Amino acid sequence: MERTFVMIKPDGVKRQLIGPIITRFEQKGLLLTAIQLMTIEQSLAEQHYGELQSKPFFSELVHYLTSGPVCAMVWEGQHAVANARALIGKTNPVEAAPGTIRGDYALDIAGNIVHGSDSTENAQREINLFFHADRVDPMLFHMTGYEDSGN
Ligand code: UDP
Repeated sequence: MERTFVMIKPDGVKRQLIGPIITRFEQKGLLLTAIQLMTIEQSLAEQHYGELQSKPFFSELVHYLTSGPVCAMVWEGQHAVANARALIGKTNPVEAAPGTIRGDYALDIAGNIVHGSDSTENAQREINLFFHADRVDPMLFHMTGYEDSGN
């Protein structure tokens, strides 16, 4: 079973889109195994987007990510990385298809509402950055136990 890291960025939280976004992932069939509302520090934002350090928009991106609370989540299920990316839509909301989160809720690439890991390796790296293992596993254990109990 695969896991991915999804983060509702500050504009998504400000616009009170946590509920509708979570609903889309749940309706798809993915399982929420960790969630945390948090305001992140510059160093965490820089580490998270480390691969983009040389890009001209990097400092604007870090500033944006630290401008208010984010909602960090771990979602689990078959092809969780690719399925989450499909729900989220293309990076530039102009190109994101209607029906995707960015296609429906965002106008501008600099404020595109939500992040989803682009590979299983990055998903694990990002989950480790944002969650201690004990924040993910108890919930997972709980959900697995729930399923096993036949409910
Ligand atoms: N971004 C931006 N300007 C650009 C390209 C990207 O502000 O020209 C931001 C945007 O918020 C994007 C994030 O940088 O979500 C990470 O970019 P990436 O290429 O990894 O896209 P993603 O994986 O988020 O679709």
